[in-house]
Amino acid sequence: MPHPAERTHRRGPSAVRAHLWLPAALALLFAGCASRQPVDAPAAATVAPPAPTPATAEPVRVALQVRTTWRFDDDGLRFDNLLPASRLSGVERLGEGRYRVDIAPETEPVNPSAWYGFRIHADAPRTLELRFAYAHGHRHRYVPKLSVDGRVWREAGPDEFRVDADGTARLRLQLAAGELRVFAQPPLLPDDFEAWSTRVAAGLGVEPATFGSSVQGRPLRMFEFGAGADAPVLLVLGRQHPPEDTGTQALMGFVEALAADTPQAREFRARVHVLVVPLLNPDGVVEGHWRGNARGVDINRDWGPFAQPETRALRDLLEARGVGAGRVAFAIDFHSTFRDVFYTVAEDPSRAPDGVLHAWMAAMQAGFDIEEKPSAARTPVFKNWAFCRLGAPAVTYEVGDTTPAAELESVARHAARSLMDLLPAAAPPSAAPACPRFDAG
Ligand SMILES: [Zn+2]
Repeated sequence: MPHPAERTHRRGPSAVRAHLWLPAALALLFAGCASRQPVDAPAAATVAPPAPTPATAEPVRVALQVRTTWRFDDDGLRFDNLLPASRLSGVERLGEGRYRVDIAPETEPVNPSAWYGFRIHADAPRTLELRFAYAHGHRHRYVPKLSVDGRVWREAGPDEFRVDADGTARLRLQLAAGELRVFAQPPLLPDDFEAWSTRVAAGLGVEPATFGSSVQGRPLRMFEFGAGADAPVLLVLGRQHPPEDTGTQALMGFVEALAADTPQAREFRARVHVLVVPLLNPDGVVEGHWRGNARGVDINRDWGPFAQPETRALRDLLEARGVGAGRVAFAIDFHSTFRDVFYTVAEDPSRAPDGVLHAWMAAMQAGFDIEEKPSAARTPVFKNWAFCRLGAPAVTYEVGDTTPAAELESVARHAARSLMDLLPAAAPPSAAPACPRFDAG
């Protein structure tokens, strides 16, 4: 059934603004996007982001995606970006069975996490070749994942997908009648996080709770378990960056190991309080952003300015719990990048041979090929804030984009089991360390 607002464009690349998830007043065009815009999209406009609280907040011009359908009726094809986590900015017919799909990020400059996601509907079986074109010269990053139902996904094979020497990504599909989803990674949506959190929490006799809301008003959710509120705290944070699917899978394996019904995990939970925030950027995930929240701001550069509601909410939650310097035994923030690497804070005394971070890295490296990359605490990322303001040993746990699920899960479970043996180490420092170079914005 076509969406009621859809209109037909014969063989045209013109898109129709079929469906906006947000008030039209918020619908903006992609500045600098090379793709053809929906013909009836509003004229280019800028809308100031909601008034930030701190004076340090910098307005970021962000183009919210126009949700639409591109119809090619003579070919019996249509493309859309109506599903949550979709990202598709334009479609151009290049010739018989050949199309260009245009992808633009939410803002520019942006990290090269070239997320995309769209749905193709074919009236009859046919072959199709798609060429990916990225705005601002960005390059293709993720091998396409395909699904007819949104539940079972497979990676496009080498006979279907290739990247030419000039960087052009091409996907050749043998379509059946019906729909096919093409996404950078199988999308994990806020409901998926909620279902997972509820299941894990239920096994521990607790429930997820809301501690704030995102720019677009989505609830920010967490759950906590283990020893009483005055016990040492393990902070587990995830999905500050929307595309980072493998980081989420690692977070889930890690937390499930902490929550397991094993003697080691039970004993650990008797002495440590665990606070889990699996999804700090729900808007970015639903909007199909490459990096930012609904304002296009990288919230993992806001642990100092606290100009965004997502980071502010978690800071305020910790403050309200009295989780300040001396309370956090360890902090871990899950991400994805091109390879498996753990970023640590160079100044962290727990990296010394008798420290907990040193022991944990040694345990990880004994089992797996994990690189540690320490750097001085300068930028306002979560890890630096957790170390400089809470005194916590802190790590950014980066999982490779293409690390197989079974492997990243076994690394994550090993990471949890190793850490459970080590925490709490010697009492955490009772005062925040001096971080002269930490730029709190
Ligand atoms: Zn990240």
